[in-house]
Amino acid sequence: MRKMGLPLPVTAFEAPAETFLAGLASILGEKGVLTRPEDVVFYSTDISRQGLTAEAVIQPTTIDMLSRALAWSTDHGRHVIPRGGGFSYTGGYLATREPSIIVDLRGLDRIIEINAKDMYVTVECGVTWRALYEALKEKGLRTPYFGPMSGYNATVGGALSQGSFFLGSTQYGTTAETTLGLEVVLADGAILKTGSGANKDHPSPFFRTYGPDLTGLFLGDTGALGFKARATLKLIPFPKHQAFCTFAFEAMASSIEMVSEVGRLGLAGECYCWDPTFVKSVGERTNTLQGVKYLAGVVRSGRSLGDGLKAAARMAMAGKTVFDGSTYLVHLAIDDASDAAAEEKLNQARDIAARLGGGEIEATAPRVTRGTPFTDFNTADLAAGTLRNLPTNSLSPHSKIQELAQAVQTYFASQKVLMDAHGIYFGVIYFAVGNNAMCLEPLIYWHDDEHRHHNRVKQKSDLEALGRFKGRPEATGVVTTLRQGLLDIMTRHGVAHVQIGKSYPYLETRQATTVALLKALKAAVDPRGLVNPGALGLE
Ligand SMILES: Cc1cc2nc3c(=O)[nH]c(=O)nc-3n(C[C@H](O)[C@H](O)[C@H](O)COP(=O)(O)OP(=O)(O)OC[C@H]3O[C@@H](n4cnc5c(N)ncnc54)[C@H](O)[C@@H]3O)c2cc1C
Repeated sequence: MRKMGLPLPVTAFEAPAETFLAGLASILGEKGVLTRPEDVVFYSTDISRQGLTAEAVIQPTTIDMLSRALAWSTDHGRHVIPRGGGFSYTGGYLATREPSIIVDLRGLDRIIEINAKDMYVTVECGVTWRALYEALKEKGLRTPYFGPMSGYNATVGGALSQGSFFLGSTQYGTTAETTLGLEVVLADGAILKTGSGANKDHPSPFFRTYGPDLTGLFLGDTGALGFKARATLKLIPFPKHQAFCTFAFEAMASSIEMVSEVGRLGLAGECYCWDPTFVKSVGERTNTLQGVKYLAGVVRSGRSLGDGLKAAARMAMAGKTVFDGSTYLVHLAIDDASDAAAEEKLNQARDIAARLGGGEIEATAPRVTRGTPFTDFNTADLAAGTLRNLPTNSLSPHSKIQELAQAVQTYFASQKVLMDAHGIYFGVIYFAVGNNAMCLEPLIYWHDDEHRHHNRVKQKSDLEALGRFKGRPEATGVVTTLRQGLLDIMTRHGVAHVQIGKSYPYLETRQATTVALLKALKAAVDPRGLVNPGALGLE
């Protein structure tokens, strides 16, 4: 940490904005510094809302550029905020202070080393999960957790900062369990390495816990502590044998218990449940074009082409009955090294479902998800017009998930009159994360005219159009109140959250000694508090 604790040069603070921006351009090139209103508004907007408009957006393409640009910006009193694919909705990269510089990290997208002997891959953190998945698949490899659904655009750095989970997460947990080491650029431009890669004479990033786990300090920090520039992730052989199943349940409690049992036993790569409202909304959003895309995906997910084609034909015959919205659906994607082992897990899952009263149906969703793991949801969103949804994640132990699920249902029932008046409704998904945790994620749905323009401002005419849309502030206000109500219930149930950003309670729910250590850590890596103020609740 090159200049930790040194006072800022007063002349730098006072330098005019033009001098500051010219300095950035000399580091990044003219094209690497964006100041046009349509650009800065676009990058200052996440999936759910717009933050304070940044003074500029910078786009480094090398770690050296990133380091020099951060040093220059913080020396000039700017707040600096990391942004990956921009696909989060908890304000994590939205500016809360002026002046702020948003750092678009997507230009750092190289896959540095695929080491099949030592079973790790080192990447620059701006690479997308889709690009990484495709490069590894060619070589018969995969990372254990292999990306969020948004991985066609979301970056490795974003997911590591969010504590993300989904693909592979029932078996392998969150991004944290998949990470071996990091290179983080700190507020003053210094580069910090973690894990065995920090050896000063013989760095090799193959092992995470040589001494205290410094890697873990930066995972799930939503960019509060520094800029992840490179990450080393574990590799596994690409699972050659897959099996899929979906079970329909009438009762919420038994469908949740199914996910819980599969999670505890580690039977699936992913196991998740959609409630009837969520199932219905998926059905409504599946248009013909996507149906064709999905079928292509199903063909790819089969063990052989013949296998995939048979599954696709069955799906086509089944039409959309899977999405009729009358049941809870529990989906499993099973990975294993042999057909027999995958089949054995499938049979165990069938036994559990039979005991809990679940009936097996066509496994459309898990096949589609694995066949086309990173599908662009844009078409679906457009098809849905102005429909928006706001997810709220919560993680509980298996022993507490049923009670929380019931409390959430009771809460929404108590709000029904208000919700009906504003056309607001909700759905819930449940997911087994590793074999210790269950995620319960309610999604609140409502209509808002501004939807199509959020996060899509690409040119000046869009910016002008934004002003003409009125939106539905009353409905959006009710959604905000409902979300707070949900968070209060979740907090009373002692849940954990991922994707903390600037939206979930974190610091205020920690014990005093923990808060003191977190603040000391922040002061050590960012003494002037210029990195992403407000993330994790650290100001
Ligand atoms: C359609 C859709 C599907 C989704 N599916 C999932 C899912 O399956 N699972 C899931 O967990 N989430 C999901 N999400 C939420 C979100 O997309 C993911 O959490 C994703 O990992 C965000 O990555 P990103 O690159 O877009 O990060 P951003 O949104 O750009 O940033 C997220 C946070 O990380 C910080 N950050 C970004 N890059 C870095 C870096 N290199 N160094 C330090 N800090 C950084 C930012 O400051 C911000 O606080 C979904 C979102 C959408 C819109």
